[in-house]
Amino acid sequence: MKVSQSENRKVLFNIDEFEKSKSVKLRYRNCPSCGGGDISIFYWLESVPAHSVLLMPTYRIAVNYPRGDIYLGFCSGCGFVSNYGYEPELLEYSHNCEESQGFSLTFTKFHKSLANKLLDKYDLHNKDIVEIGCGKGEFLRLLCELGDNRGVGFDPAYVSGWDEGGEDERLRFVEDFYCEKYADVSCDFVCCKMTLEHIHDVHIFLSTVRTITYNRPEVVLFFQVPDFGHVSQVGAFWDIYYEHCSYFTEDSLRRLFEISGFEVLDLWRGYEGQYLMIEAKRAEKARDLPKVDGKNLESFGIFTNNLEKTVQNFKKSKEKWRNFAAKSVEKDRQIVVWGAGSKAVSFLNTLRLREEIEYAVDINHHMWGTFMAGTGQEIVGPEFLRKYQPDIIIIMNPIYQNEVKNTLNKMSIHPEIVTL
Ligand SMILES: [Zn+2]
Repeated sequence: MKVSQSENRKVLFNIDEFEKSKSVKLRYRNCPSCGGGDISIFYWLESVPAHSVLLMPTYRIAVNYPRGDIYLGFCSGCGFVSNYGYEPELLEYSHNCEESQGFSLTFTKFHKSLANKLLDKYDLHNKDIVEIGCGKGEFLRLLCELGDNRGVGFDPAYVSGWDEGGEDERLRFVEDFYCEKYADVSCDFVCCKMTLEHIHDVHIFLSTVRTITYNRPEVVLFFQVPDFGHVSQVGAFWDIYYEHCSYFTEDSLRRLFEISGFEVLDLWRGYEGQYLMIEAKRAEKARDLPKVDGKNLESFGIFTNNLEKTVQNFKKSKEKWRNFAAKSVEKDRQIVVWGAGSKAVSFLNTLRLREEIEYAVDINHHMWGTFMAGTGQEIVGPEFLRKYQPDIIIIMNPIYQNEVKNTLNKMSIHPEIVTL
């Protein structure tokens, strides 16, 4: 791995030099995907809240929530990015997790069209579907309702009766992490959305999932994860947070599936390029990792060709938003953020914004009256803005821009709108 020497400030470190220069001890030394040991630490963020989707009932609990450190390292053997300081013990996946995006029309539309696409492509009708990390079960419910399928969802954070979907005898939920003891659950299709990035030992996990296909080589797997290539290109530092310990590019995702014993059927981007979707089925045996020459990194694609560029993109983006907040405060303009999920927690905590921004708005009513982890802003509903009359709204995901504007227009509120 090339280590930058062209600048005065080094941006890439191997684990030994990083530990020495920062006086820290990293928990892991080898890549959780391929096991390789040539790791470059390129981005770090210390003392951030361990959780960003757990509901924090009081300001005190929110600002005092346990913290952890993020040390992102890149493996030059397979291109996989992981937090080498991750401590899973800090995480608590409980009923208090509120990660649902289903309150947004934009998101619901995306979900429905994705479900229909998968149902058509794999002719999923009257079939058994397993969803690993099903959250509140909304996507599994869609697959079962639209395709007349039966479904089993696994998630320790599943809450029964959370949505208005009601009882459905085709659906069953297991409040547990998926593991080998469930390998005999009947299934024709396995779905796993926005979950793999929460798992540190990704190779071990995929090998466990492979057991489900032991006697059923025709079973198709569908996984969806955030695209770190996109994150690095736009300098989206708000997409880096503690719960996400694993970050995938197109290449590293494909490699992980291949070395874990799967054949990749399709790999594509969705949700305006923010997500990577992979479809795979069991291969005869795991493929050896293609030999990668450290000097010839073109094969790693957009992100990994430009690791130093990535570091610069994050830096520039942080400076931009820090200045924006400082200037707004100087002019006595009131800012709120729109979207109180993980992106906002990361945005506020990375920039250490507390009193500069008083409130976070969200349309998910389960979050109202709770507080942002780490920085403590109260989460309010859109109606609150009639009284508060903010000067600026920062939308945490550009994809919701039109939806937010429509809501504000209906309320006759016309602040300056900016998006990340
Ligand atoms: Zn690796």
